[in-house]
Amino acid sequence: MAEIVLKGIPAAPGVACGPAFILDKQEFIVPPRSVMEKEIPIEIARFEEAIIKTRDEILAVQRKIADEMGMQHAQIFDAHILVLEDRMLIEQVIKRIKKEALCVEFVFSEVLKNYIKVFSTIQDEYLRERTSDINDVGRRLLKNLIGESKWHDLENLSEQMIIISHDLSPSDTASMFNKNIIAFATDIGGRTSHTAIMAKSLGIPAVVGLKDATLRISNQDFIVVDGRMGLLIINPSQATLEIYRNEQRRIEALRDRFSDIKDLPAETTDGHKVTILANLDLPEEIPIVLKQGAGGVGLYRTEYFYMNRIDLPSEDEQYEAYKHVAESIAPYSVTIRSLDLGGDKFVSSLQIPRDMHPFLGWRAIRFCLARPDIFKTQLRAVLRASAHGKIKLMYPMISGAGELRQANAILEEVKKDLKEEGIRFDEHMKVGVMIEVPSAALTADILAKETDFFSIGTNDLIQYTLAVDRANEQTADLYDPGHPAILRLIKRIIDDGHAGGISIGLCGEMSGEPTLAFLLLGLGLDEFSMSALNILQIKKLIRSVSYKDAQEMALAALSLSTGAEVEAFSKSKLKELAPQIFSADGNSRI
Ligand code: PEP
Ligand code: MG
Repeated sequence: MAEIVLKGIPAAPGVACGPAFILDKQEFIVPPRSVMEKEIPIEIARFEEAIIKTRDEILAVQRKIADEMGMQHAQIFDAHILVLEDRMLIEQVIKRIKKEALCVEFVFSEVLKNYIKVFSTIQDEYLRERTSDINDVGRRLLKNLIGESKWHDLENLSEQMIIISHDLSPSDTASMFNKNIIAFATDIGGRTSHTAIMAKSLGIPAVVGLKDATLRISNQDFIVVDGRMGLLIINPSQATLEIYRNEQRRIEALRDRFSDIKDLPAETTDGHKVTILANLDLPEEIPIVLKQGAGGVGLYRTEYFYMNRIDLPSEDEQYEAYKHVAESIAPYSVTIRSLDLGGDKFVSSLQIPRDMHPFLGWRAIRFCLARPDIFKTQLRAVLRASAHGKIKLMYPMISGAGELRQANAILEEVKKDLKEEGIRFDEHMKVGVMIEVPSAALTADILAKETDFFSIGTNDLIQYTLAVDRANEQTADLYDPGHPAILRLIKRIIDDGHAGGISIGLCGEMSGEPTLAFLLLGLGLDEFSMSALNILQIKKLIRSVSYKDAQEMALAALSLSTGAEVEAFSKSKLKELAPQIFSADGNSRI
């Protein structure tokens, strides 16, 4: 069979080869069976028993997830319980059993299909998203009615498998700690979807946004998932497989190679020191962060608190989580980013309409300024946690000084309230700005006067500067971090920030890629924040080169014309100066 390559969105790095396990293909096909008049109460009783059993199961899964992954993941199951207790659904099933004298499993599957059909065409985004909850609960209940395991059981996978799914439901995440799952790939989702977050937390590769992967792959097909490039290869040829097996060995060897420098400083051979920090999506990643020797957390994304749940996180809940992270990372600091919703980080409970240009629309700080109730709750939690460790705060998507002042004014109000209430917090907590909108980059000199630090968000800065949607697979080739426009902007931000006396960090994916990190070093970046797994390699790079060489290289790169030229130039210099960070085949990407 011919090899087929599907292109999606890279969601978590690494490479995996193995058989596919399709989660979504088990359609509930239940044949009708007539029942006699006197059997009708028995059918109704079976239905009630199945509801109780299903509720017990859901509560058990919820407890398991709460223990293993924290409450914010477990709360989605509150929505599942609500579906199970839906009077309309229950009454409709009972009424039809009585009227049609058919077995409960058939009637329930029909009612369920109808519900799903109606919900999936509903205009309201929030209600439409409930379809997956109904589907999830319905399938569980059917399994209990039928008594045989039509339900996929990830726990019992006996060999290493790659999970393929249209989407991964939170209910499936209960089993994701199963060692036999080596990667996953989904039809839908962006790089910050639940799937992507889970994969990164588990340290396995993932590709999302593959559109129709579930239709093109069959169970047990042998596939390759390339989480760095966002590729999925069905029926790879021997030659392709060989390439990827080597790639796996290369990545593993590179990841293990630098553990001896874990506790050494990120210092160039001529004594220039920088700081290497970790990006944190979930508190569960803290052990990996500590193991890689990060000098703190440079970006703690807080959006995930607000996702996959039906209510908003309370102040206390956020406070506990921020406090836990701050205490675990101490004596180092944690930079908490205030809520960055919108774009690809979408939250159903807030019922924000998805507009035509979600990345350019009502999002991040704009949303927080418009909803001070939500913003203040988060700020109170951050400030309260600041009494327990070293916490910094930064605002996402600031487009100019006006927004920064508005955000700071709200922060001051919250500080005043806390003082009046006698609640302790760090009165000197540093407050920074993410520079990820070109207008902020171009006014960095102004912003530097009004903030304690900058953190450059290149994931967004690149998309806004180059007009390339970061979540769209059609434009993925145009997403060009080495583009001269990006280099110039970064240089300007660093120079203007330094002139204003503040330190400059960068927390986009760029800082974890060797050829680009080398450029950033040469441009004078102070703090590199990245996915934990990249930390040791980048530290090795920095310890292998001189600052003088990096500066000379970056200066020369600034005179080049294209991103391809820039990257090739940086790579060739790096190969001369730090050959040890490359594997034998000349590749340096982990
Ligand atoms: C960025 O934009 O570079 C960034 C780090 O933030 P996020 O990826 O969460 O938008
Ligand atoms: Mg961003």
